Amino acid sequence: MKCAVCGQRDAVVMQRHTGRALCRECFVNDIVSRVRKEVVSFNMFSGNDRLMIAASGGKDSYVLLDVALKLHDPSKIGVVTIVEGIEGYNRLEDVEKVRKLASVYGVDVVVLSLKDYVGYTLTELVSLGFSKNVKVSPCTFCGILRRKAINEVARGLGYTKVLTAHNLDDEAQTIVMNILRGDLFRLVQTLPNGPILSKLFVRKVKPLRKIYEEEIAVYAHLIGYEFQTSDCPYLRYFPSLRARIREYLYKLEREKPGVLLELINRVDTVLVKYVSHYVNYPELPRCAICGEPTAYGRKYCMACELLMMLGIKPSYNLRSHINVG
Ligand SMILES: [Zn+2]
Ligand SMILES: [Zn+2]
Repeated sequence: MKCAVCGQRDAVVMQRHTGRALCRECFVNDIVSRVRKEVVSFNMFSGNDRLMIAASGGKDSYVLLDVALKLHDPSKIGVVTIVEGIEGYNRLEDVEKVRKLASVYGVDVVVLSLKDYVGYTLTELVSLGFSKNVKVSPCTFCGILRRKAINEVARGLGYTKVLTAHNLDDEAQTIVMNILRGDLFRLVQTLPNGPILSKLFVRKVKPLRKIYEEEIAVYAHLIGYEFQTSDCPYLRYFPSLRARIREYLYKLEREKPGVLLELINRVDTVLVKYVSHYVNYPELPRCAICGEPTAYGRKYCMACELLMMLGIKPSYNLRSHINVG
């Protein structure tokens, strides 16, 4: 079968949500141009921005780096990876793949371990939590500390945007979850150009938010990414609401390809109107311990609070290892 776009080359990919069979080149071009369109329409970044890519090391962040290098000046791109330190789950091989791609373009890579940052690996924090009977999931710990560290690294090094590799499936789950919870505040934050709640936050954007996870996997495969076989052992602790929503949304998408893309587009349209007319959030308060932003009405940030619950005196060290090129 020939490609539905160029009509010249053999089709190698079936793009489900458009029903088109595409060749390698036209598929890659389609992804890159859809990301470019999303970046432009929400002004996610422009020529002068310095972009810090928050890389987990998985296929999504590898693809994000690849696409960013096609859209932006490589000398204004950096990568940050937080190494959680999870026993039985060594991500260093994946980090190595990202580092290799980065080095081809002379992109700076910052690797910061949680051990260096707060003095404990994630596994150590989790076992402390068990021993003190603290009912917080590993994913919560991990997410809160990673977000805080990434923001501080990006700000400290003068980056103006943080790019995360969330894909369409992630974004649809987040949107549905916040609608079900009636959490308008969090829903508004899915909008790429929504309000910034603190001067201390480097704006986070998700350039891949309209690209299906399946498409990202195909793209990764086509550009030569080798897939890892191990998953984070804590994945099974994922909040069950998100897991159930994920399952349901997959089913929906299989029955009606394109439905999740449509959902995000519609929610975007509603939120854009809502934000321009109704939203005027005040600056977030600062944590009394670390000075970083915290939620309205709180004295301490979530990271400091979690560490204190474990009997740890919060202190943060950004001694990162920066490798150029
Ligand atoms: Zn083609
Ligand atoms: Zn704090």
